[in-house]
Order: sequence, then C-alpha cells, then structure tokens
Amino acid sequence: MINRLPKVAYFCMEYGLDASIKTYAGGLGILAGDYMKGAKDYELPMVGIGIKWKQGYTDQRIDSNGRPFDTFLNNDYDCLEDTGIKVNVTIRERNVSCKVWKVTKFGVCPLYLLDTDLAENQDPWITGQLYGWFGEERIAQEMVLGIGGVRALRALGYEADVFHFNEGHAVFAGLELLREKMHKGMNFKEAYNATREEIVFTTHTPIISGNESHSLQSILYMGANNGLTLEQLIEIGGSPFNMTIAALRLSRISNGVAQLHKNTSNQMWAHIDNKSEIIGITNAIHIPTWVDQSMLDAAEGKDDIWERHIKNKEALIDFIYIRNGIKLDVNKLLIGFSRRAASYKRSNLIFTDNSIIESLLKKRTIQIVLSGKAHPFDNSGKELIQNIVKMTKKYPNSVIFLENYDINIGKLLTRGSDIWLNNPRRPLEASGTSGMKAAMNGVLNCSILDGWWPEVCMHGINGWQFGGGKSVDDFNTEAELDAHDLKSLYTVLLNEVIPTYYENRDKWINMMRNSINSCKHYFSIKRMLEEYYKLMYIKNKTD
Ligand SMILES: *Cc1c(COP(=O)(O)O)cnc(C)c1O
Repeated sequence: MINRLPKVAYFCMEYGLDASIKTYAGGLGILAGDYMKGAKDYELPMVGIGIKWKQGYTDQRIDSNGRPFDTFLNNDYDCLEDTGIKVNVTIRERNVSCKVWKVTKFGVCPLYLLDTDLAENQDPWITGQLYGWFGEERIAQEMVLGIGGVRALRALGYEADVFHFNEGHAVFAGLELLREKMHKGMNFKEAYNATREEIVFTTHTPIISGNESHSLQSILYMGANNGLTLEQLIEIGGSPFNMTIAALRLSRISNGVAQLHKNTSNQMWAHIDNKSEIIGITNAIHIPTWVDQSMLDAAEGKDDIWERHIKNKEALIDFIYIRNGIKLDVNKLLIGFSRRAASYKRSNLIFTDNSIIESLLKKRTIQIVLSGKAHPFDNSGKELIQNIVKMTKKYPNSVIFLENYDINIGKLLTRGSDIWLNNPRRPLEASGTSGMKAAMNGVLNCSILDGWWPEVCMHGINGWQFGGGKSVDDFNTEAELDAHDLKSLYTVLLNEVIPTYYENRDKWINMMRNSINSCKHYFSIKRMLEEYYKLMYIKNKTD
C-alpha cells in the first residue's frame, strides 16, 4: 500500500503556456501546458520535462498572393531560471551538453526545459525548431527530450514513480530507463519488464501516417538505440522503429484522449502484440486560462449572460479591426473556426457550395473568422489557407483570416464568437480542446460528432451536431462523406442556428447557459488529472 500519491515525471515535446513563450505548436502543447497548470493548482507531485525551443514553431506570414509562408525568429525568455544543471547525451558519437532551465512563470508545477544552444556544443541547433526538422535531426531532438530528460531528473534528484510519455516523441526515455537497469546488472528481459512498470503513455494520433517512425539504420547511426541491439530495438518498436508502437510496448497502460478515440486507437493498433491496454481519458482544459469567469458566474444567474458575451464579442471585433482593418457587426452571427490547417479538418467545407453560402456572406447573415497554421512541409494545408484568404478577398466584410494563430487568438476567438464550428472527417479528430474552451465561454458548438463532442452534445440544447455520426468507413470515398457532411452542416445552419440566433434569443441564451453548465465540471483539468491518477498512475490494488 502506498499512502502517498505516486510522483510523476511528464514528458512532452511542447508546452503551450502563454503566447510569450514559443514552446508550442498546437493542441498537444496546449494540453500539456494546461496539465502543468492544473498540477500546480491542485499541488500534485508532478514535474514536466520539455525542450527550450530557440525558434519554436513557425511564425506564419501571408504573402501578396495569399499564400502562407514560414518564418523562424530567435527568442529570448525572461521566464526561465538556470538550474545550474547540465546533462550530456551522446548523439552521432558527439557529446551534446543540455542545459536545464526551469520555468518560473505562468503558474505551473516544476517544469524543466532542456537546451542545446550552448557555446561548448558542436550541435547547438538541435533545440532550434519545434517540428521544423526531420529524419536524423528529429531523432536528435527526441534523444535530448528522452535520454536527456531522464538524466536531468536524476541530476535534479527527482525520484519519479511514473514516467508519463505524452505522445511517442519521448520514447527514448524508455530506452534510457532500460539502459540504467541493464547497467546495474539486469538482463534485457528483466529490464524490459521492470521498465514497463514505470511508464504510462498517451497516444494522440488517429492517422497511421501521423505516427512517427524512423529507420533502424538512422536510430543506430544517431546512437538512439542507447546500447540496445538491433534485435532488441525491433522487439520494442518494429522495423522501421515506430515511436507509438514502441511506447505502447514500453508502457504498463496507455490511453486515448477521448472515449471515441480510445475505440479508434484500439482498432488501429489491434495487430500489435505485447502492447499495453489502451483506455480512454478525455482531455480537458485549465479553466482559469481559457474561460471568462464572468461567463461562469453569469451561467449561474449572477449576471446578465448576454451582456457579458457581447463584451467578449466586442473585444474580438476590436482585435480584428486593429489587425485587419475590418469592422465586423456585433449584431450579426459570428462563426469562429481556428485549427491547424490539415486536410482532414476541412477548413474550407463551409465555403463549398456557392449557391448557399454566397447570399449569407453577402448579406452578412453570417460572419466567419478563421485562423490556423499549416505545417511548413504541408503544401495541401497551405493551399487550404490560400483558399481561405481568397474568400476574405471575395467577401471582405464577412470573412476574416487572422494570421499566425496563437494562444492570444485562441483566447479571443473562443470567447468572442457566437458559434464554434468544427468539421473534421470523423473519427480523425482525437479530442479537440478549443471546443471545450468555447463551450465554457457560452460559445455554442456546432460540430461533427468527433473527439470530445459526442460525450456531451445534446443537439439543440447545449449546441448542435451535424453529420449524424457518419465516419470515413461509412462511405466509399472521402468525397461522399464530405458531400454528406456539407449538406448536414447547411441544414443545421439554415434551419436551426441562424433562426435561433435572429428570432429566438431567449432560446439561444438558454443554450449558452446549458453549454457552460454541462461542460464546466467534466471538461475541467481537475477531472482529467484525477482520472490520470486513478486509472494510470496509481497501480491496481493487486500489486
Ligand atoms: C486550444 C488550442 C488548440 C487546440 O485546439 P483544437 O480544438 O485541438 O484545435 C490549438 N492551438 C491553440 C492556440 C489553442 O488555443
């Protein structure tokens, strides 16, 4: 029996803490950042391990043809404290020294960031660009996070009971835990079994190609095998070495990030032997970071909820006016949509049928504000954005694109929109947390039943669904699914959302209240942390 909570070391490639620290790209980082804040709020025994990215993720700019391009700026931070600790990792047979910084702001539990940008390093650029590099350089970054991360914990004297890998990027930490045990005399099998008891894993990616793998040749060349033989590597991660499969095998338990995503993950990895059980723990958000407290109060009847919402909407409209020089109408329906420009998210879906959307946009019956970055290598994502920018030219008073999506834009949009639109191809959205932020700010979700939304959606009561839960597998082609979902989106928009907004404000306000009240407990980081402790970190009573 342990009568204390297990001590957790949480590993993640990115942390979204604040717009001023560029250590995040998107949802994975926002989740990790919110988790660190929750761990601090509830005084849980947890530390985070990550990387101090010098340039971070791409800063998005739009060229004169409306095409996005990528810029990378060097950042200096005043929110980091030097711990005085450095650890070494051998990468490509060269020593790489990693300095360990501690984050001192943003209300987080102890969070340590590793940094290779040091005068003594031949390879200072390793911690340069988040997801900006590829192949060997990505392996180098993951060696810093994983191997360097475990060594940093040892140097800090933090004795973790549980190592939590948030995504597969951290999996080399498992190889370091193996190495330590084999160094102390265990054989591979013993070390493997013992290491597995210490690791838990969260998977986020329901698309096979999104699950990173590396050739065994590159792993060996970089030294990421960390002393393991080729056969041992294959036993863990297969060939090529798949980071997700390795993490599934190196962990005692794993989870998907929503209940639907649990099912999707189990199907996706059904063919993998010797993996841990995959359970479901639905994501959540750090409410003080994302939600306007006045809206929570208003939902309990303390204030006028509509008046408060209009303040948030005006703040968004003012921001857009300063940024883009266009003044949206506070009395017209405002639809927000911000997410990574990945093709499965279909950011252009709503624009597809001109015969329906044109008059709505021309008459300003609806106004749409979009934001989102494409990965630097993702040309189809960049085309999506270029298309949206075209729409802003065609409908300058009702379609807005906000360049360089970040935490500030995320906050403004999930507070100031009337509707939060989400239309991924089901079931490819693992969870999605922006919809939770919106829901708790009284911004009504209008969404495909994907990720978190099926767990709380009550159509016409706390938001709307469209698509009726149809998935990629229900159709012969993606185009058929898209056509089905588009028709459903327009039906809900024209028959329910627009009439309710303009003709039944009382119902709308009731829905806002329901949205806030049905989400604020379940999608709070507190519930999520409790579930991770109960279902993942604390071992079963039988142990
Ligand atoms: C909340 C948030 C995300 C994640 O939201 P999704 O719904 O998963 O797209 C990504 N980026 C920023 C800046 C956010 O605020």
